Amino acid sequence: MTPARSLLRGPVQYLKGVGPRRAERFAQLGVHSGRDLLYHLPYRYEDATTVDAIARLRVGEDATVIGRVVTKGVIPTRRKLRVFRAVIRDESGHIECAWPGRPWLDRTIDKGDLLLASGPVRFYHGPQLQPREHTVLARKSDDGGAPGERPAAGRVFPVYPATQGLTHRQVRAVVRLNLSRLLAELGDEEPIPHAWLRRLGLPPLAEALRDLHGPPNVDRVARSQRRLAFEELFFLQLLHARARARLRLETKGIAFDAEPTLTRPFLDGLPFDLTGGQRRAWADIEGDMRGATPMNRLLQGDVGSGKTVVAVLAMLKAIEAGRQAAIMAPTELLAEQHQRTLTEMVAPLKLEPVLLAGSLAGKARRDALARIADGRARLVVGTHALIQEGVEFAAPGLVVIDEQHRFGVEQRRKLRESAPAADALVMSATPIPRSLALVLYGDLDLSVIDELPPGRRPIITAVRGPEKRDGVFDFLGEQLAAGRQAYVVYPLIEESDALEARAATVMFERLRDRFADFNVRLLHGRLSAAEKDEVMRGFLAGDTHLLVATTVIEVGIDVPNATVMIVEDAERFGLAQLHQLRGRVGRGAEQSYCIVLRGTAESSDRLRAFRQTSDGFKLAEEDMRIRGQGDLFGKEQHGAALLRFAQLERDHDLLEHARRLARRIVNADPRLKRPEHRALRHELEARYAQREALYHVG
Ligand code: ADP
Ligand code: MG
Repeated sequence: MTPARSLLRGPVQYLKGVGPRRAERFAQLGVHSGRDLLYHLPYRYEDATTVDAIARLRVGEDATVIGRVVTKGVIPTRRKLRVFRAVIRDESGHIECAWPGRPWLDRTIDKGDLLLASGPVRFYHGPQLQPREHTVLARKSDDGGAPGERPAAGRVFPVYPATQGLTHRQVRAVVRLNLSRLLAELGDEEPIPHAWLRRLGLPPLAEALRDLHGPPNVDRVARSQRRLAFEELFFLQLLHARARARLRLETKGIAFDAEPTLTRPFLDGLPFDLTGGQRRAWADIEGDMRGATPMNRLLQGDVGSGKTVVAVLAMLKAIEAGRQAAIMAPTELLAEQHQRTLTEMVAPLKLEPVLLAGSLAGKARRDALARIADGRARLVVGTHALIQEGVEFAAPGLVVIDEQHRFGVEQRRKLRESAPAADALVMSATPIPRSLALVLYGDLDLSVIDELPPGRRPIITAVRGPEKRDGVFDFLGEQLAAGRQAYVVYPLIEESDALEARAATVMFERLRDRFADFNVRLLHGRLSAAEKDEVMRGFLAGDTHLLVATTVIEVGIDVPNATVMIVEDAERFGLAQLHQLRGRVGRGAEQSYCIVLRGTAESSDRLRAFRQTSDGFKLAEEDMRIRGQGDLFGKEQHGAALLRFAQLERDHDLLEHARRLARRIVNADPRLKRPEHRALRHELEARYAQREALYHVG
């Protein structure tokens, strides 16, 4: 006998029933090793635990049966309807099944196939089952030994993700051939502490995998799925907790504890009181900044919730301790906007923000760089230009990242590395559910401003069908005539920038003719950065009255005189996106309107929800409920691959437990160096080899 090789770690090719050609197909499914096969789980189950014996079927009842196909064929009827018929047999008897109008089934159902079918039993020369649904459970030709005449009733059939050239039944056969040996090798390997499994009522790993591949009944499936979801969430939280601990251990931060020579007068000078949400966020941030470990905090809050004021407080706290503070925005325009608001806000404190953007050149640029390098620039506003080569801060203290979802993990890391000891505050005006935030940004601490300042005049939101379109544009005309500005937004067509640009272009031409007295401009993704910039500037300055655009205007720009946002084909937008667009109006004193136009006559739950709530967090939850988590990961490229088993809607309780467990373990043993954590560390590194690299700091 050759020395036993590991089936779990070894390539799938050497498992029974696979071989080199099928191994290639398995690779397409992401299954490379025996362990991968264990984790290649069914996405649904055919429940044959409650099947009827064919002999006992009664006309007029609904039935579920399993039987082998003994004869089959397509029969033309007098009415020219072609009917596929198959006679199936189980131990008790046989019955004819008929599929009127579906002759093509003749190509997919063969003599000898084991068929699961359910539907009404009717009378047509005799009892006849007319299946609403059917599945071929096994083929005579299936390898791995067709279940033969083994009774299929009483079983739950797993249905696996399959691919071209590898059917779900073939996957099932391979799993069946290898499952017990793979599980035997897995033994009682168990990454999750037993006490926690007991506490959460979850089965051990081997048991869960066994049940998922061959469940005795469907109830066993759910708890095993939760077990795998928990495992996945736990390791992700462990990754986050470790990244957080590493930053704390390896980097000595700055403890900002100077007299409040700037923050105090700034607060006293504000013409309003901070809202409760702002006060809580500021308390979190101040606490972090006082501490000796570097802050790494995410501040979430709806558009207009007053994040900027909080960010300014944080920057002033760094500056009053003799350090520099910087804020980084995703575009030049946004950076300039910050520059204007901040200049106004800090002028009474005799501070002057320095702007560093990509377009800055020559002497102005050299000047800005010099002031940053010698510390004269105490408050710096910029774009990506801030993290480019040649930018040297004399005494970096705090970095604020605005609209963080526009920056990737990579850029966050770069920023961290450029000033490892500095505190970091990342802000987002795109509310996401807490569960999603914990998954995507679990290494950050989280503060949320969940209320708007009082006295805001709510934006009037309306949903209109295509028949009202004309009236809506009449209304737009009235607003323009009254001196207001407006946006009309067209959906982004993912497959094609060109198409998208064309749709917007055609409409732009129509609207330009219709509103010939006004200055109408077009903005879309095909324009160069300089062109976009020029168009936006015209709108900001008030020279352009109507901006026809695709979603490129989504983020951040404030034009107080803009009071109307019209969104065309609104069904094509996510709720979060619609909400972002709505946030572009309502920035000034006049009443603002957001009118979304449906492309079709039917109403939709999504648009109704949008009209009824102006709370971005509620809409984000709703969005996740309607569209599922997958869609929400869209922007974070690595996000989609992050969760295979967990569904945040269903599993948010598990997520909180996973986070608590991960933090507890890492607090006690930050580097997972203890012998009892060795296995955890290895598993973690195996799972997230790539993502770990992104987290390596300093
Ligand atoms: P965000 O950055 O979260 O979108 P801003 O900080 O730009 O929001 O605030 C929006 C507006 O609300 C600003 O004009 C700001 O001066 C004002 N504001 C902020 N906080 C308050 C408050 N507590 N009370 C009243 N107005 C506020
Ligand atoms: Mg803002």
